[in-house]
Amino acid sequence: MPSATRRILLYLILLSAIITAAAALSLAYNLNAITDHYQQLAQEMGRTFFKELVIVRRWNASMGGIYAPVTERLQPNPYLDDPHRDLTTTDGQRLTKVNPAFMTRLLAEMPDHTAENIQFRITSLNPINPHNAPDAWERAALQTFERSAVEHFAVVEEPGGRFLRYMGRLVTEQACLGCHAKQGYQLGDVRGGIRVSLPLAPFEAAAAGGRRQSYWVHGTFWLMTLTLLWVGGILLLRNVAQLEGLNRYMKDLNKQLEVAALTDSLTGIPNRLYFDQQLETHMISSQRYGVAFSVIMLDLDHFKQINDHYGHPVGDRVLREFSQIVKQQLRLTDQFARWGGEEFIIAAPHTLLDHALTMAERIRAAVAECNLATIGRVTASIGVTEYRPGETAMALLERVDDALYRAKANGRNRVETG
Ligand code: GH3
Ligand code: MG
Ligand code: MG
Repeated sequence: MPSATRRILLYLILLSAIITAAAALSLAYNLNAITDHYQQLAQEMGRTFFKELVIVRRWNASMGGIYAPVTERLQPNPYLDDPHRDLTTTDGQRLTKVNPAFMTRLLAEMPDHTAENIQFRITSLNPINPHNAPDAWERAALQTFERSAVEHFAVVEEPGGRFLRYMGRLVTEQACLGCHAKQGYQLGDVRGGIRVSLPLAPFEAAAAGGRRQSYWVHGTFWLMTLTLLWVGGILLLRNVAQLEGLNRYMKDLNKQLEVAALTDSLTGIPNRLYFDQQLETHMISSQRYGVAFSVIMLDLDHFKQINDHYGHPVGDRVLREFSQIVKQQLRLTDQFARWGGEEFIIAAPHTLLDHALTMAERIRAAVAECNLATIGRVTASIGVTEYRPGETAMALLERVDDALYRAKANGRNRVETG
């Protein structure tokens, strides 16, 4: 797999993981917030219910209690120590005093409340009415009031389901002292508390709805984001694949062009441009490491006559065959190139003049001995020289050209040095 594709895939997977983690974190936070929210709402309702009761009780206490007709359901409060507890009106109607504590108990016992499952009761660590004695949870709550807490919450499992228990603190007010002063209470003392029990089922049903909505919103957002990411990612991957294909094609083309630019199209051997580059490298290397290197220049004899006599295509074939004959005489490290026209050149690294001369002679003989199709034999004149450290490429090529010129002047089909 190409590296760009792999990198994009890696980014896509990484981004998907980040989006998934972010969505999961947000979902967890939201679910928690929803649960907290509805619990707080239930607490607030418990608190409000308590405050309403306190207002009603305060109103009752401010009037020193209120009178109501005695009925089968409303019998005089046996725990109310008051000489004016029971009155009879001038027309004979029996009335009894309903003080705040009695009123609270009467309200708590109203069948409506039990039907709606909201329950409340007044309780104290020091009750006048033993019915108002606290249970274990209420006692613990009342004890926290002694230590300055003003309210107490808990979620409890009860036979009717889960309930939020709220307990609010009742403080002795001026109006309370009328009845409670004899118990030793003073203004501001903790009298006890009112415990309100709210069924949590409606809050939990609403919270479950909120959670379901949160699941949907997060799930849809997560799915949409990932779909968009991957659709975009796949389109990008496709484009990258196309671009990479194009890039590979361009690289191949470039390589082909580079080879073509440095190769002679007729003979298939390197051309003068390539040779010039190599010559420079050999000269630098020879100078730095102090090793000899020689140059051999070859020119076909009377080649113009071959062209004139047999035609240009035959001349071309002779050039190709000649280049193959010379190539066979060379080592892999020798650089062989077409210099131009019917002239060729060889750079022989790590070669002293003597060895280059032997090599040139061997090439000359191999060419002269070859029997070419159509034209029979051809010969070549050869100039040889060894590189002198410090001299320029132009000077070196001039000397080898001089040597070749001498080989021509001295009768052709021979090797001369320069
Ligand atoms: P000399 O022995 O003095 O070298 O004589 P020559 O005829 O070989 O030299 P000259 O420079 O007079 O002629 C070279 C000829 O090579 C002339 C040109 O038409 C021919 N030639 C150059 N390049 C090519 C080529 O690519 N193909 C063919 N067929 N002929 C070529
Ligand atoms: Mg020539
Ligand atoms: Mg020639």
